[in-house]
Amino acid sequence: MITQPAGYLKRIRELCTKYNVLLIADEVATGFGRTGKMFACQHEGVTPDLMAISKGLTGGYMPLAATLTTEEIYKAFLGKYEDFTTFFHGHSYTGNPLGCAVALANLEVFRREKTLMRLLPKIRALARWLEPFIELPHVGDIRQRGLMVGIELVRDKTTKEPYPAGARVGHRVATAARTKGLIIRPIGNVVVLIPPLSTSTEELRRMLELLKDSVENSAIG
Ligand SMILES: *Cc1c(COP(=O)(O)O)cnc(C)c1O
Repeated sequence: MITQPAGYLKRIRELCTKYNVLLIADEVATGFGRTGKMFACQHEGVTPDLMAISKGLTGGYMPLAATLTTEEIYKAFLGKYEDFTTFFHGHSYTGNPLGCAVALANLEVFRREKTLMRLLPKIRALARWLEPFIELPHVGDIRQRGLMVGIELVRDKTTKEPYPAGARVGHRVATAARTKGLIIRPIGNVVVLIPPLSTSTEELRRMLELLKDSVENSAIG
């Protein structure tokens, strides 16, 4: 999990516009509030030409994905049948009614519970509770965007020497966390924390406590 530097996406947008290249944003993971705004692109005021959305669309409870685009691109596919401008491709389960119903219900929960508005204090609390992690012997870097965190574990903190892949240290931390009742998954030597947006501040505090214990006791050698 590598975060983009500030201004990066905005510059990509400018270059895409300048050279007439379509900008596709994959917001499958980052969409629907994950990074603190409805879509991650909004942090930089960027509008992509195409956007892939999925996971958070249904709150993860049913599989559903969508591809969004601009009116301009949409219109390019309109035309008479015999012109073959139509986008004929679909998927076996396109527009699955149950998936769509769950997505609509999830968006209603966003509205009713003011999910986005209530994220900021949680994001700040999470940042505060992550601070002591950097003091831990094998934590090389902490990357947070909203309620999305990657904690990179390294063998040597000063040289940032990585663990050999076979050490499976991320896996060790995740396994230790599970015995404490916290279900997380690593990506290599990065411990990933992506709690549900509905997680309460108190639950977040408890998660971080369990996670800190797990990192302290498993990231060794
Ligand atoms: C999960 C994920 C995907 C995979 O999407 P599928 O529809 O399951 O293939 C793609 N991009 C990102 C950023 C993801 O997090």
